[in-house]
Amino acid sequence: MNRTNFPLLLAAATAAAIVSVADIAVAQRADRGAAATPTVSAPITNVRYAVTFDRTTARSRQLLVSMTFSVSGNDPVLLSMPVWTPGAYEISDYVRKATNVRVTGEGGTPRWDKLDPDTWRVVPNGARSITLAFSYIADSMDNAMSWSTREFAFFNGTNILPFPEGRSPDFTATVTINTEADWQVATGMAPADAPRAFAARNYHDLVDMPFFIGSLDVDSVRIGEAMFRTVTYPKGTLRGANRDRFRDHLTRMVPPMVAVFGEMPVSSYTNLILFDSTMSGAAALEHQNSHLGIYSPFLVDHEFLPSITAHEILHLWNVKRMRPAEMVPYRYDRPQPTTWLWVSEGITDYYADVVQVRGGIIDSTQFLELVTGKIGEVATAPEIALEDASLSTWTRPVDGTQYIYYPKGSLAGFMLDIMIRDASNNARSLDTVMRDVYQTTFRAGNGRGFTSQDWWGAVSRAASGRSFTDFNTRYIDGREPFPWSTILPLAGLRMNVDSIYEPWIGLATNVDSAGVKVMEVEPDGAARAAGVEVGDYLLRVGDIAVSDPDFGARYRARYARRDGDRVPLVVRRGAEERTLTLPVRNRLRTVETVAFDRNASPKALRIRAGILKGS
Ligand SMILES: [Zn+2]
Repeated sequence: MNRTNFPLLLAAATAAAIVSVADIAVAQRADRGAAATPTVSAPITNVRYAVTFDRTTARSRQLLVSMTFSVSGNDPVLLSMPVWTPGAYEISDYVRKATNVRVTGEGGTPRWDKLDPDTWRVVPNGARSITLAFSYIADSMDNAMSWSTREFAFFNGTNILPFPEGRSPDFTATVTINTEADWQVATGMAPADAPRAFAARNYHDLVDMPFFIGSLDVDSVRIGEAMFRTVTYPKGTLRGANRDRFRDHLTRMVPPMVAVFGEMPVSSYTNLILFDSTMSGAAALEHQNSHLGIYSPFLVDHEFLPSITAHEILHLWNVKRMRPAEMVPYRYDRPQPTTWLWVSEGITDYYADVVQVRGGIIDSTQFLELVTGKIGEVATAPEIALEDASLSTWTRPVDGTQYIYYPKGSLAGFMLDIMIRDASNNARSLDTVMRDVYQTTFRAGNGRGFTSQDWWGAVSRAASGRSFTDFNTRYIDGREPFPWSTILPLAGLRMNVDSIYEPWIGLATNVDSAGVKVMEVEPDGAARAAGVEVGDYLLRVGDIAVSDPDFGARYRARYARRDGDRVPLVVRRGAEERTLTLPVRNRLRTVETVAFDRNASPKALRIRAGILKGS
């Protein structure tokens, strides 16, 4: 997963800063279903799901869901709803949006009630074919949930497809979509024999392939052995130059990923992308042959779009296949905490940067800016060990550490990459480790998860036998700051400390459907002097029109030499537009940036080139 809000701390450091932000539900259940009652369902067969979404149900934002199956006895069938979606490490209780539950049967009249908060108990009472049906409210703008408009819906199978509790997930099932003739259906799931029917080999596949239904744009491109299909809503959003650039970025980012892991694990992949102005930043969730991204419309031509796309596609290997043992197999009735999200998410994020530079989407300077941005993010967050941050994400900590394993894990990956290359004279790298762990656990191990021995064993082998016990104690299990002054020179890099005298507005903003909204005004800043208030929407600063979160960088560049000038600042306050006067005020800021080391040794230069070029 990747959640990002855009930056809005003009007060904070770099223009490239991207701030992860916690969202808002509450973890409320550890193992609430741990009931005294036996929780093994009677066996069911011939499982068929149907989902109806058309112009009529769209008006009330509902999906009509049914699950039909066969039974052979009269023992209770226990049908449970997942409480989380793998990749979104939080408890969400999807069952709460199911309404108007009905159970019908053929050959008898089933009786039913609830066994626990997310489990229905159905006693067949002579019925041999049973249908559980309900309406599902699809109104959650969240990539792990379900959402709809008058002409579009997306859903995650975890939200609406119940499973027989306590039984093997290895049952085949079909999903039939009933919708308008002129609407489309897009999913990674394999088509079945009937029109708009899809088939899954087991429950894991079934709930790991979200659907888009409605009026959609579809664009496909072959990259190596796989077809990449991009499905977007609303129609017309990703077209022309934006579509061409997105397609070009895909063709550049995927081959370096395949080079790392040694294979392309799927023959087709689907990017399911929704642009919506009520989304303030970007959030995307990986699946085994697709991902679902929800983006603010300004992302359509923003440099963060290829970055988040690379992150999600990289999960094809790292986490959807190569996965910590604690999360194999996935289970859907309770959290599956692990200490390894710094690898599953953090190192995925490292490779999102790496494959962009190797594919020529960004240059080496931009790569170093991304590293610098992550160092800045970690520096401003509370000190926390990577393993602890990984475990506690499930509790939704409020201190700013909930997603810190993304940037900090990415930096740990960067350090490991440098150290392995240094120890092996650039013969091996973190790429070697990723391929090794992927191939030995997922591929040769028939889908088994990786353990600490698998991971650190692979790291040590790649680093010519060097032990990483001390590294783990200090930087993964421990809280010591990363030793950049000794690590960076090994890769021909250095930490540059510089002072910048630059204009400073002194406010924090967020983008919502109405525009760029002021969230905070610094007490002593220029914005406060101008009379900007929290809740104002910024329209113009000087001669810079404000339509996205990057206006701060443009302002700093445009007015760099205008200290002491006064410029108009236009806001919308309520229904009224107001022109205020902003004093241009420069401020001295110390900036630490990762930079190229002009005195790098030949070995360090080879290591640097190895990281940037994949050699
Ligand atoms: Zn992720």
